[in-house]
Amino acid sequence: MITTYGLGKRFGEVEVLKSIDFQVAAREIVVLLGPSGSGKSTLLRCLNGLEELSSGRFAVNGIEVDAIAPLRTRQAAIRNIRRQTGMVFQQFNFYPHKTAIGNVIEGLVTVKKMPRDQAMSIGQRLLERVGLADKQDVHPARLSGGQQQRVAIARALAMDPAIMLFDEPTSALDPELVGEVLSVMRELAQEGMTMVVVTHEMKFAREVADKIVFMADGVILEEAAPQAFFEAPRHERTQKFLRQIS
Ligand code: ADP
Ligand code: MG
Repeated sequence: MITTYGLGKRFGEVEVLKSIDFQVAAREIVVLLGPSGSGKSTLLRCLNGLEELSSGRFAVNGIEVDAIAPLRTRQAAIRNIRRQTGMVFQQFNFYPHKTAIGNVIEGLVTVKKMPRDQAMSIGQRLLERVGLADKQDVHPARLSGGQQQRVAIARALAMDPAIMLFDEPTSALDPELVGEVLSVMRELAQEGMTMVVVTHEMKFAREVADKIVFMADGVILEEAAPQAFFEAPRHERTQKFLRQIS
């Protein structure tokens, strides 16, 4: 579903991603771990075209983006990739004047030009799926952080993505609201969604991930199945990271 080949990203002189080779298979759940500043968000943002890559190439669901391809070619590929990937961030970026369901169906109505009643029935089904059937007419600002993040997940799912990218979806939430978001993510994983998740929730990583990828200073230091990763990390840097978070 995702393959990167020597993907590099620099901001000015600073090399933030250094020749990343990263793979995600269909239906695989990959958890991306690493200290702050290691390049996790930048990698996700490159995969979704929110950042331009500086070198290398990658493919998402067969659509290839090459750093040396002409701008127009890259832009066309990125538009295609965006249609197939859903992204969930710490911040929600809702339309404040729209209701929960209004936010969920916005992309269906404006991007996919779907008739409103058809979009509404999809929106209702998705809000039900994230446990918010009774909140469809409520404005996001009146919802808890956990409910807002579940609306954001429903909004991403509305576009029927092949892949979901999550960048610390629970990091801004009060501790008691984290579980409801993680349980929606667990269900998605069980239903066979392909997912890349940046998170500090180690219990979730251990239980849900098929593969853990550990980044530090812009490189992938190691990757392993969760049990091997947590019980027998190979690198000193990984061991230090695991000591610090436990
Ligand atoms: P992580 O998500 O692992 O915490 P990031 O991908 O956000 O790491 O950041 C990796 C590095 O890239 C950091 O050193 C950060 O300061 C730098 N960086 C990220 N975005 C930008 C930007 N737009 N301009 C300059 N430097 C950036
Ligand atoms: Mg980040």
